[in-house]
This record gives sequence, structure tokens and C-alpha cells, in this order.
Amino acid sequence: ARRRIIAGNWKMNKTPSEAVALCEELKDLVKNDDVDVVYCVPAIDIVPVVNAVKGTNVHVGAENFYIVDSGAFTGEISAPMLKDAGVEYIIIGHSERRDIFGENDILINQKVKKAFASGLTPILCCGESLALRKADTYKEWIERQITWDLDGVTADQVKKLVIAYEPIWAIGTGETATADQAEEVCKLIRELIAKLYDQATADEVRIQYGGSMNAGNAAELLSKPNIDGGLIGGASLKADFGKIVNA
Ligand code: 13P
Repeated sequence: ARRRIIAGNWKMNKTPSEAVALCEELKDLVKNDDVDVVYCVPAIDIVPVVNAVKGTNVHVGAENFYIVDSGAFTGEISAPMLKDAGVEYIIIGHSERRDIFGENDILINQKVKKAFASGLTPILCCGESLALRKADTYKEWIERQITWDLDGVTADQVKKLVIAYEPIWAIGTGETATADQAEEVCKLIRELIAKLYDQATADEVRIQYGGSMNAGNAAELLSKPNIDGGLIGGASLKADFGKIVNA
């Protein structure tokens, strides 16, 4: 059985002192030994958050990095820096990085391979726009994203991978995909992994849903057989996150 993973994506929110306060506020609410709980936080919050969650069940993730270990890359941070700071997970291919910062599938694929080589667990995001959903071409789109992003990634690595299905039209809009819509795509992704690798790998890879997930809709989404967790934006910044962890 796959272990459930509930991750918060704080995006560009919380100063270092606010981040520590949020960790304190959530500490008792997110206790659950049957679930992996992750806070993916802004780079500047990583060190204080790692310290704030020490001794708890919370794991820390980053939201971005660059594929080279060190050197003349002004403004970037590297996988060894994240690792040394206590980071375990890394979000890769979020639609905001793709759309606002121009990250393409070539770079995203390099990031997935670099993350694994550095001992970080990628949370690889995919998802279609509203236009592709309306045109009914979203399934082909997602299959193409995942196929490109996993080029050269081994089955053993994919077994540890987390994939997040995040329909762009559901991100920050308050419009959640229905549980059936989310399950349809998460199932499609698992079948694709079986095709690209094998059934054992598909049975192990963990697939999250993301997009306006909250305390009210989490239980129904998480009841679906192919939805192993959530990647939560807005609702990860408040007490609601504890309700999602325990949904
Ligand atoms: P919201 O939960 O705010 O819709 O954001 C989802 C998301 O993008 C998580 O990565």
C-alpha cells in the first residue's frame, strides 16, 4: 500500500519569522504517523523551518533549485545547499515556474534527474490549462509532459517519485476538480507509468492532486484509489492544513 503524502506549497508567502510562527501554530494539528507531511517553503524560510519542525513528523521541501552544484549562477540555489540545510523534497515543474518563469520540459527533466542524483525526492507537477481541458486534449498533454519530464529516469527512481496532478484552472481559483475528474487523470498517469516502466513501478509511485484542495473537499478527493495525497497552496497557510492531513 502506498503511504499518503500531504504537502503544503507555501509559494511566495511567509517571512522567516512568520514561517516559524506558522510551524508553531500547525505543530499539534498536523500530527499523524500514517501520513508523510511536508512543508515546501521559500528558500529563505528553509533554515528556520527545518529548526522549527525538528523533533516533529514534518518534513521540509524546497520550491525551486538549479541543476548545477555551485558556480556563477547569480540568484540561484543548488541541490547540495538544500540537502545540507535539511531539505528532503523538491517541487519541480510547477505551472507557475513553467508559465511565469519560462521553465520547459527539457529543464524540468534535467531537474528531476539532478534531484535524484542529489538525494532529494522530486514532487513533479503536471497539469493542463482551461483551454486544453475545454478542447478535450488534456490527456495527451499530460502524457506528453510526464513522458518528457521522466526521460532517462530509472524505474527505481520513479518508485520514489511523487507526481502532482494540478489542473491550472483549479489553482488558486476556488474551483476544485471534482473527485472523479482528479481520479481520471491520476489513474491515467499511473497507467502511463506502467506503460513506460512496469506495473510494480506504477503501483509504488505516489500521485497527488493539487488545485483549491481544502478541509472541505480533501476527504472525497483522497478516497479515490489513485489519489495518494495532495499538494496544497492557499489552505497550507492556515489551520485548515491540519484537517487535510487528517482527512
Ligand atoms: P491552491 O491550493 O492555492 O489552489 O494551489 C495549488 C497549488 O498550486 C499547489 O502547488
